[in-house]
Amino acid sequence: MTNTIYCPDMAVVDGHLLHRPSFLVAEDGRIQHLDHVDALHREFPEAVVVRLDNQILLPGTVNGHNHGFQVLMRGMGEDMDFMTWRSRVLYPVSEQLSHYEIYESARLAYWDMLRHGVTAVADFFYLNDQGVENALAVARAARDVGIRLLLARTFYDWEGAPVRYRESPQAAHDNTLALSRALEEEGLTKWVALHVAPHSPHGASQAMVEAAQATAQELDTYLHIHVAEGKYERDTMLSRHQLTPIQWCEKAGALGPKSLAIHAVWADEGDLEILKRTGTSVVHNPASNMILGDGIAPVIEMLHKNIPVLLGTDGGCTNDRHSIFDDMRMAALLQKVRMTDSSVIDADTVFRMGTAQASRSLGLNSGRLLPGEMFDAVTARLDDPSLLPGPVTVGHLVYAMADTAIQTVYVGGERVIHQGQPTRFDPNPLIAWARTWQSAH
Ligand SMILES: [Zn+2]
Repeated sequence: MTNTIYCPDMAVVDGHLLHRPSFLVAEDGRIQHLDHVDALHREFPEAVVVRLDNQILLPGTVNGHNHGFQVLMRGMGEDMDFMTWRSRVLYPVSEQLSHYEIYESARLAYWDMLRHGVTAVADFFYLNDQGVENALAVARAARDVGIRLLLARTFYDWEGAPVRYRESPQAAHDNTLALSRALEEEGLTKWVALHVAPHSPHGASQAMVEAAQATAQELDTYLHIHVAEGKYERDTMLSRHQLTPIQWCEKAGALGPKSLAIHAVWADEGDLEILKRTGTSVVHNPASNMILGDGIAPVIEMLHKNIPVLLGTDGGCTNDRHSIFDDMRMAALLQKVRMTDSSVIDADTVFRMGTAQASRSLGLNSGRLLPGEMFDAVTARLDDPSLLPGPVTVGHLVYAMADTAIQTVYVGGERVIHQGQPTRFDPNPLIAWARTWQSAH
C-alpha cells in the first residue's frame, strides 16, 4: 500500500493552527496519523514524502447549497429581485438546457468551486425531466472534475414552474430510487451521495414533502428544503395556512436531525425554537441573500440556540461566486453590521461553518484534518500578498485571503487542482464550449 506523508509549513487542524505538522494519508485517501515528519518517516519508511513548502494546509470547504447549472446564467439577471429573476432568467433558460448542457454547466460550476477551495458541494438539482438521466449527468460531471457531490434530487410539483421540474409524488419517489440504483451500478458512489430535496413550501405540496421524507428514510439519507428565503413566502404562507414557512415544514414532516433548511432568512423566535427542537441544520447563503435583497438571516440567534449553521454559495448567478471562503467573510461581516457589534461573531466560528460543521450536518467524514477523516484539503501559499505579513491566523484566512493564494486541492487524497489547474480534465474545451454557449444566448 502506498502511503503519503504531507508536510506543510502550517495547518489548521480542528480549528487550531499547528506549525510543521505532518499527515500520513493512506491509499484510500484517509488520514491515518498526524505527527512530526521524522516520527512518521521512522514508522512508515516506504511512504512518499510530499513537501508543501511555504504553504498552509486547510480543510477543504463545503458548499452547502448550490444549483450547478445556474452558472450559465451569470450576468443575465443582475440587479433583479427574486421574482423578476425567476420569471425572466431562471425559467426561460432552464427550459432550454439539453442533457449535454446540463453536464457541461455542472463541470464548469464544479471546476470553479474547486479552484476556490470547495471540496464538496450539495447541488440542489431540479431539471429532472421526470427521469434520472440529467441527474446522472451531474453525477458524472462531479466524478470527471473530481469534487465530492451531495446530489440533492428535487421533489417539485407546483404547476407554475417549467414542466421539466415537475413530477407526481409517486414518480419523484420511484425516480429517486432508480437514481440511487443507477449511481451504484455506474460506480459513482465514490464521488456522489444521493440526498432528497422537496423544493420549498411554495414548490412542493404537502404530499410531495411527505413523499420526499419517506424516500429519505428509505435511503437513510438527508433532506434539503428551501424555506423562508423571501418575505413573500412568509406572507403567503401566513395568509393561506396561518403558518409560518418553518411551521409548515415541521407540520409536513420536513424537519429533523438529517434535514437542512436552506436560507431561513424570515425566521422569528418561534421558528428558531422549531429548528432547535427538531435538530435541523440551517444553510446560510449570505451573498445570495444580499444580491437578491432577501434580507439578513438571524444567524447570531441561531448560534445562541446551538442550531447548526453551515454556508452555501447558492447558484452561480445569485452570488455570483463559488467561494465558501468568500461566504465565510460575508457571513461574519453581515452579522457585525446587522448587530452594530464587531465582536458578535468571530473568524473561528464562520471558518467552522464552512468546514467542520458543514461536514457534520451533511454526513461527510471530513472538515477537520484529523486521523480517520478523508484527506479533503486545500493548500494556500503563505507568500501570497493577501496573507502577508503574517503570522497567518484563522482571521487572515477568513478576512484577508484572496483566491490567488489557493494552490493545491485534494479530494480523498487525490490532487484535483495543482498550481491552480485541474488535473482530471483539460479545461480548454470546456472554456470554448462555455463561450460558444454564451454567444448563442
Ligand atoms: Zn437554492
